[in-house]
Amino acid sequence: MARIKVLDKEFETSIPESEILSAVDGVAAKINQELDGKNPLFVCVLNGAFMFAADLMKRVNIPCQISFVKVASYNGMSTTGAVKQLIGFNEDVKGRTVVIVEDIVDTGLTIDGLVKQVKELGAADVRIATMLFKPQSCRPDVKPQYVGINIPEAFIIGYGLDYDGYARNLRDIYTLVK
Ligand code: 5GP
Repeated sequence: MARIKVLDKEFETSIPESEILSAVDGVAAKINQELDGKNPLFVCVLNGAFMFAADLMKRVNIPCQISFVKVASYNGMSTTGAVKQLIGFNEDVKGRTVVIVEDIVDTGLTIDGLVKQVKELGAADVRIATMLFKPQSCRPDVKPQYVGINIPEAFIIGYGLDYDGYARNLRDIYTLVK
């Protein structure tokens, strides 16, 4: 186990690159099997999902397209509400199978907002592919179809995930040391 320091916090390796990549193999195999002939549009959610999306797309061997979106969170009028908004989503998704590619699903709030927006744009089938999933934190109505690795509730970095903008470039995944 390697220990690293990022800004003011210490992290420890929790998922090595080899384990990450075999999980990506598994996700790609399931997608290749289930979505063959469906001409899926993959939508990579920036920033965090860039690394997972790149590794995943190299393993997807069915005809498909890929696009990228950014998500903005705004404080709503009420203190509890957070609005997630798609930026730069210009694809025509009417009648299509869309796979939203995320780095991590934690509470499920972000992905739920995205799924609803893509459905409103007329997609026929909207699926979620996430590298990491925190089942204990996630709302029960959010069920990703394609999950790389289930993880416990802890703050992680690496493989696209950041701490204050740093550590996205790390090959392994690290967990915060309490
Ligand atoms: P959700 O809306 O599902 O609660 O959270 C999704 C977003 O929160 C992710 O796309 C990611 O940006 C961020 N997030 C959730 N858990 C973690 C974590 O453990 N580490 C990092 N770096 N970001 C996280």
